[in-house]
Amino acid sequence: MRHEPNLVVSQTACQVCKDDPFDPETSKCHECGSRCDQCGKIDQKTGQFQTPLCESCGHRERVFNGFNCAAEFCKWLCTKAHKNFTVLAHNGKGKQFMYRL
Ligand SMILES: [Zn+2]
Ligand SMILES: [Zn+2]
Repeated sequence: MRHEPNLVVSQTACQVCKDDPFDPETSKCHECGSRCDQCGKIDQKTGQFQTPLCESCGHRERVFNGFNCAAEFCKWLCTKAHKNFTVLAHNGKGKQFMYRL
């Protein structure tokens, strides 16, 4: 039996929010928090977000679950690759990965 992760939890921290106390439920960051398609568009010229964070976005903790979670997580990670921040992820079995981008 192959050990595929079925849950990936990621938490982000960047220059803006690294000193804030982290709370999985409420912690938000306009820089490194998760964004939906609406507010996640990045201006190719400036490398900045085109629109401000919308109401439901900005969470620093993101949970990916299900069969495809590892791929989803990698996809999400890649969209963040231009930013200088740290992603801490674990797969629910105590394994931790640290990505410094
Ligand atoms: Zn941040
Ligand atoms: Zn949004």
